[in-house]
Amino acid sequence: MKSDILIIGAGGAGLVAALHAYEAGVTVRVITKEYPTRSQTCMAQGGINAALGNAGEDSVESHIQNTLKSAHSIASQKAIELLCQEAPNAVEWLDNIGVCFSRTKESKIAQRTLGGASAPRACYAQDYTGLKILHTLYDRCQEAGIEILSEKFLLDILTDEEGVYGASVLDIRSGDVESYTANAVVVATGGFSRIYDKHSTNSTASTGDGIAAAMRAGARVSDMEFVQFHPTALKNSSILISESARGAGGYLLNSQGERFTDELKPRDEVARAIHNEMAKDEEIFLDIRHLGETFIDEELPQERKLAKLYENIDPVFDLIPIKPVAHYTMGGIEVDEKSSSIVKGLYAAGECANHRVHGANRLGGNSLLELIVFGKQAGVNAAEFAKNSKKSSSNVVSELLVSSSNMEIDFYSVREELGDVFYKNVGIVRDKKSLEATLNVVNGYIAKLPLMGAKDSSKMYNTNKIEFLEFKNTLELSRLVLVGAIAREESRGAHFRVDFPKESELFEMHTIIDRDGVVDAK
Ligand SMILES: Cc1cc2nc3c(=O)[nH]c(=O)nc-3n(C[C@H](O)[C@H](O)[C@H](O)COP(=O)(O)OP(=O)(O)OC[C@H]3O[C@@H](n4cnc5c(N)ncnc54)[C@H](O)[C@@H]3O)c2cc1C
Repeated sequence: MKSDILIIGAGGAGLVAALHAYEAGVTVRVITKEYPTRSQTCMAQGGINAALGNAGEDSVESHIQNTLKSAHSIASQKAIELLCQEAPNAVEWLDNIGVCFSRTKESKIAQRTLGGASAPRACYAQDYTGLKILHTLYDRCQEAGIEILSEKFLLDILTDEEGVYGASVLDIRSGDVESYTANAVVVATGGFSRIYDKHSTNSTASTGDGIAAAMRAGARVSDMEFVQFHPTALKNSSILISESARGAGGYLLNSQGERFTDELKPRDEVARAIHNEMAKDEEIFLDIRHLGETFIDEELPQERKLAKLYENIDPVFDLIPIKPVAHYTMGGIEVDEKSSSIVKGLYAAGECANHRVHGANRLGGNSLLELIVFGKQAGVNAAEFAKNSKKSSSNVVSELLVSSSNMEIDFYSVREELGDVFYKNVGIVRDKKSLEATLNVVNGYIAKLPLMGAKDSSKMYNTNKIEFLEFKNTLELSRLVLVGAIAREESRGAHFRVDFPKESELFEMHTIIDRDGVVDAK
């Protein structure tokens, strides 16, 4: 079952990489544990950044400066320049392949302001931007005849002394373990915000499987301690209310009905302002009532639906109760300017990769952009690598070691506890004592893993087994987040240490961790 390239993940990054690799003339196979029309990408609402200047004066230089500022000096200027310079081409490409962007009266692509942006820069399709992008990418992949296999769960990336040669996969439907060989592998499996369990805007699928597998295969990870908290998730469900609601003029209010921050500051600052209010026992609300029903139905229809469905309130008439929760993981697989990891033939793109464009705090609208710019880069470079590779395929099926007999400890309870302790101790504010205490908790869970397992021993559609495998991956990654957060004795962007509240030049560097747990900084 060999293809030139195997892409793991059918979100925005995976499908963009697939289309460009296919165009470069190689055979492409994509696998996904869900369906290609689902993923974090289809949940993106606010928009994708590009300095088009359609709704007000803007420039690529301003986009670069806003991104650099938000990154707090630990991003690559070169990578950010590439991201922002390529942005207009990226949006033009999406427009050309059929994404139905909202339009101005003059038929230009409409743009709006998101936090930390000096101009209305986010191109959008109402508040369904990611969904429209993902479904269009999927249509184009179908049209090209690219093979996309659903319900295939990545277990491990296969390597030998020459580098990567494929992946072992659990077929969720049959329960069989299969291997898919390829000359190059692109990991595009998204982030790991579900370490925070229910305290996250992400779907249950964001468990960092690809990052954990890449690390087991010898890749390095970086900047894992930087986790972005989105200021406005619904209070009871953690479902996101898009930043576009504040961009359109929504206010943040405390229980006294007072505004307490500039709503359009970068997310780390707004989230901390809310955290400080909540520490004073204030409840926090988003107020968009003054925008009016017509505007809300035209520009923010999904936000209204979500608030009705999950909070039982109508934002046209009611205040929206909100809280900040984990939203985006800036760290991930350490890649170079070709999107390559240190394992030969192993590439990464999207939220699972660290292309060093977000630094300590991602700017809203830059993630969708990253998928298009660096998804292309990963696809093209992996294709080039695969064409020049002389590898013969080895067909190895690895064993799946999931205990179904040791169930003394219910891993679902541990997963929930892990999320709660992370939200409390590794959240918007942190300190040495609580970080070290959490590391002890995590090491304790890791030591007790042999006492956990899947209760369900059936072979086909064993979601219990899949959830256990996902849990093990989040546990592996939660240790890395803590190692990075403990080592970084300063505050920078989304990483705010109460015991070191200032940025320190000593830490103007990336935290890099390898398979053996060695921490390096560059
Ligand atoms: C609610 C919400 C709103 C957002 N709004 C915006 C916005 O307006 N603008 C913006 O720029 N960004 C936004 N973001 C962030 C952005 O959507 C994500 O960072 C981005 O879509 C991630 O894309 P991706 O392709 O890297 O990963 P994903 O879209 O998460 O796709 C990951 C893929 O990998 C697959 N996968 C995962 N693990 C495995 C495994 N073990 N085996 C096989 N397959 C696997 C999944 O099934 C999926 O197909 C938002 C995020 C959320 C959650």
